[in-house]
Amino acid sequence: MPRKSSSAAIAERYSVRCRYCGQKNAVKEDYVNGQANCGRCRLPLSNEPHKKFADLSKHDYVHPADSKALAALRAIPGIDTALRKLLAVTGESAIRVTFMASAVKVTSQQCPDLHAKLQIACTTLGVDMPDLFIQQNPMVNAFTGGVDRPIIVLHSSLIERLTDEEVLAVIAHEVGHIHAEHVLYLTAAQLLLAVAHIPLASLPVAAIIKDVLSATMRGALLAWARRAELSCDRAALLVTQDPHVIGRTMMKLCGGTFASKIDYDLFLEQAREFQKNYDEKKLDKFWADILSSGLSHPFPVWRVSEILQWVEDGQYADLMKK
Ligand SMILES: [Zn+2]
Ligand SMILES: [Zn+2]
Repeated sequence: MPRKSSSAAIAERYSVRCRYCGQKNAVKEDYVNGQANCGRCRLPLSNEPHKKFADLSKHDYVHPADSKALAALRAIPGIDTALRKLLAVTGESAIRVTFMASAVKVTSQQCPDLHAKLQIACTTLGVDMPDLFIQQNPMVNAFTGGVDRPIIVLHSSLIERLTDEEVLAVIAHEVGHIHAEHVLYLTAAQLLLAVAHIPLASLPVAAIIKDVLSATMRGALLAWARRAELSCDRAALLVTQDPHVIGRTMMKLCGGTFASKIDYDLFLEQAREFQKNYDEKKLDKFWADILSSGLSHPFPVWRVSEILQWVEDGQYADLMKK
């Protein structure tokens, strides 16, 4: 008869270290890769490695359309002074107070799995942990705002509808905005969109925007903000390390979640079709028309077609080898 193993040896044998957060998880004897979730971050357990970047530069992944639009924006005389002036009035402290008063702050005790996901995104990309809030909101969305101390806000509907891996993708996208140093311009762009969207036009902030930012500045800012999304989808891929997690997240942003289930492969086909039919020139005109009409859309099909192309070009694989 073989000697009975000690309970410590059994625990050692049936344990898997989470590839994302490093937590050791006890698993059942019949454990199969990917079929159990980590007790800390709730992401699927697996023996696959998870790369953490030691020295990632934003230039390693920033989308050329983002760099180009940002260069055009920065070339406008007085833009930085104007934005700082705008945000000094509308304020970083105002943003922080608003969310401290109206949203739930995520900590290692409050929603610890979301806190763990934030930590995973920050350690993978090499970013200091920002504050993270959850706000009750039916619109599936998330955003990053601030000037010197950014915060990330996730809408409750996003957490309710996405899987744990997809929530990681969204958090990683937002952390990407911090890594890519988008926050100042992004906050100003969000302010413009918020004013365009809700009937705030009569509020003092609308007058301040008109006063501080010229029409050229406003146009260039919004044109850049759309393209900045493409860079941060790449940052999200560098954290999830699975392009289909990004694809599925976009599919849900696009079509929502409902019982009759959208076919993911057909959605990918649609994204490829989009890429084939719309070159940058046509898109430029399209975005210009959309922006001038004051609309804002996340354009998830375009975004998924861009991320597929980045993977297919081999740029993602090259970066993973770094
Ligand atoms: Zn974990
Ligand atoms: Zn974004």
